Amino acid sequence: MLNYNFDLAIALAYFKCKNLKRFDYYKNLKRVDSLSSDYIQELQWDKLKKLVTHCYYNIPYYRKIFTDIDFHPQNMKSRHDFSKIPKLTKRNIIESHTKLIDPKSSEEKLFWEATSGSTGEPLKFARSFDDQEYAFALRYRSNAWCGWEPWHKSVWFVSDTRHITELDKIKGRLSLWLKRRLLIDTKNISKNNMFKWVNLIKSFKPIQVYGYSSLLGEFSEFLVENNINIQGIKGVFSTAEPLRKRQIISQAFNAPVYDQYGCSEIPCIAHECKNGSMHLNSDEILVEFEDIPGNSEIKKIICTPLYMTSMPLLRYEIGDTAAPTDKQCDCGLPYPVIELKVGRVSDNFLASTGKIISGVTLAWYIVDATKGVKQYQVIQESLTEITVRLVSEQNFISENEQSIEKLLYELMGSSEINIKFEHLNEIKPEKNGKFRPIISNVTNKSNEEFLIDPNITQDSIRQMAFS
Ligand SMILES: [Zn+2]
Repeated sequence: MLNYNFDLAIALAYFKCKNLKRFDYYKNLKRVDSLSSDYIQELQWDKLKKLVTHCYYNIPYYRKIFTDIDFHPQNMKSRHDFSKIPKLTKRNIIESHTKLIDPKSSEEKLFWEATSGSTGEPLKFARSFDDQEYAFALRYRSNAWCGWEPWHKSVWFVSDTRHITELDKIKGRLSLWLKRRLLIDTKNISKNNMFKWVNLIKSFKPIQVYGYSSLLGEFSEFLVENNINIQGIKGVFSTAEPLRKRQIISQAFNAPVYDQYGCSEIPCIAHECKNGSMHLNSDEILVEFEDIPGNSEIKKIICTPLYMTSMPLLRYEIGDTAAPTDKQCDCGLPYPVIELKVGRVSDNFLASTGKIISGVTLAWYIVDATKGVKQYQVIQESLTEITVRLVSEQNFISENEQSIEKLLYELMGSSEINIKFEHLNEIKPEKNGKFRPIISNVTNKSNEEFLIDPNITQDSIRQMAFS
């Protein structure tokens, strides 16, 4: 209890010093947990009307679209009316991002974020600090469903370069300490490094574990194989990829595993509760399910984050699929339950040294190392051959080839690799419509495991979030 109070005091001091509103937002959001589902539907509708009105009066992109289809917020009487607004695609964001920004948001209040391009198309989008604070609060609330409070000490296994760079600066390290967070640099997964991680974790004494599914799985297998016990973990939170190896992760940390679903553009769309049901954060994010021709079981997910006003995303086609369900959960939460049905899958690469390079990690570093790339796909053909497909601006071709070569040599731990570049106008998805940005014909591990692992039921196939 003494430690908890200390951690709480540090976290609150951090929020106050930096004038962050996330904790206040979190306290308000938490109150919604005890409301009725009918009330939440009313709340959702009120927020939706307000957001659509805001878009009409303030966002140039929507003003034009609404005018084109003769749509006025005053006439929006139902969800059916709302669904007349054309969907927003990633391509729309890339081509019209400045018109999607509220001109009233001054430049100083906005910052730019990038995605790793889970669909092979890296995306840049703007967000106000206030929208960002709200997104953090929403994640805090979802984590709290499973016992993770914002002040708990946690260890993070991520490869998102936005976070990893915090380790390079004193200011970043101080900020991590204040956030009660141990960040593991997962760029180099090796047995030696994993032994070092164990020591770091044991001396830090976290009670929550957070990370990308593939990184958690890799580390968990190492813990189990080496019979290493890490005491005191209360929960493991998986994000960014479909959750695989749930059982081994749970065994390794001797704790329950919870899955999160979201993406960089819209964090924390849904989160598992303690009973393992995936609840939608429906008071803050409207999710529509759209039919897929020829498939009656799964539907496309169309998302509208209701709290994002600086760069609103109305009816955003996120690129994932799910099945709505009437399943009731007796955990007491008023939010509806969904079943996610796979989406982004990246293979892991295997180096000739035996080192494994996580596909998600590779995606982040590719985006970070290149300029003007509209689409990419990296294929490991054999232990010594890699094909890189790029759709990029002409003037960056040579620079991008050099950067990617340097990166792949570093990550694969060898320059004895034959890297072939293909510059294309478009990279087409596979026959099933899915696009895999990172493919390994050496491991093709993710897909095989995905199909044959008996511990993976449809209920446990989930995915993605942000941090
Ligand atoms: Zn529940």
